[in-house]
Amino acid sequence: MKADRSDGYNRPVSKLILVTNDDGIHAAGILELKKSLSALGDVVVVAPDRARSACGHGITLHKPLRVHRVRLADNDHGYSTSGLPTDCVHIGVMELCDRRPDLIVSGINLGANLGWELTYSGTVAGAMEGAAFGIPSFAISVTTYEDGDVFGLASNFARFTAQRILSEGLPDGVFLNINVPPGDGGDVTEVALTHLGIRRYPGRVQTRKDPMGRSYYWLGGDVPTDGLEEGTDLLAASEGQISVTPVHLDLTAYASLERIKGWSLKTFSDRKVAPQS
Ligand code: MN
Repeated sequence: MKADRSDGYNRPVSKLILVTNDDGIHAAGILELKKSLSALGDVVVVAPDRARSACGHGITLHKPLRVHRVRLADNDHGYSTSGLPTDCVHIGVMELCDRRPDLIVSGINLGANLGWELTYSGTVAGAMEGAAFGIPSFAISVTTYEDGDVFGLASNFARFTAQRILSEGLPDGVFLNINVPPGDGGDVTEVALTHLGIRRYPGRVQTRKDPMGRSYYWLGGDVPTDGLEEGTDLLAASEGQISVTPVHLDLTAYASLERIKGWSLKTFSDRKVAPQS
C-alpha cells in the first residue's frame, strides 16, 4: 500500500512530513498537527488505531501488523496501524510514503513528556524512531490532560520548528523533545532551551485489594512539583514556557567510561576456562 502523491506532471517534489502519535489516529492533537504542517508540504498520517500512551519505544516483532486506510475528521485520509508509534514510523517510512520523509513529527500529545520519564513515552518514541532512521524528527506535547481547545499554541510552534528543521537540519541521532503549555493560536510565550530534569516520586505504587482480598497495584501517584532545577524542561514547563530539549539517541554515559574501567572488568576474560568434567 503506497500513498499516491503523483499528479502526473513534472512539478517540483514538495517536502514530505510523516506524522504519528501515541494517543491514536482519532485523537484531536494529531489532526491539529496535520493541519498546521500542511502549509509546509505533504503530510502523511500513520498512527496507532487506539490510544497507546506510555508504550515507550516498544516495537511489534512477534505478531503481524495490520494497516488500514482511514478517513480522518477533516475528510482527508490517513493510515491506522495495529501497532505502536515505533511500528508506525517503520511502516510509514518503509512502506506507506512514496518517498523518504524530510521530517517526522510525533504528537501533539495530550500530557507533558518531561525529564527522565522520557523513555516511557510513545510520543517521544515516534521521534526517536525517526532519528534512528536518520530523518530529522521532533516530539511535541501539551502540558495538560484537559481535552478541548488546548492545541493552538503548540500547533503554531510545531510549524515554526518544522520550518527551522527543514532548513537547518538536525545532527545525526538527535531529535527535539518539545513541551508547550495549553493555549490558543493567538497566544505567545517564552521559549526555553532546556536539559532533561529529574523528578523523583515519593510514593509511586498504590496497593489496593480486589473483592477476593488479593492485592493489586496502581503505578503513578502525585507529581512532585518542588525542587526543580534551573535550566531543566521540568522547570520551564512549570513556569508556563515552551520547553525545547535536544535529545541524543546515544545514551552511553561517556563520562563514566573511565570510572568503570577502574573496575578491571576485562580481567574476567583473563581467567583460565575451567575444564568440563
Ligand atoms: Mn499520549
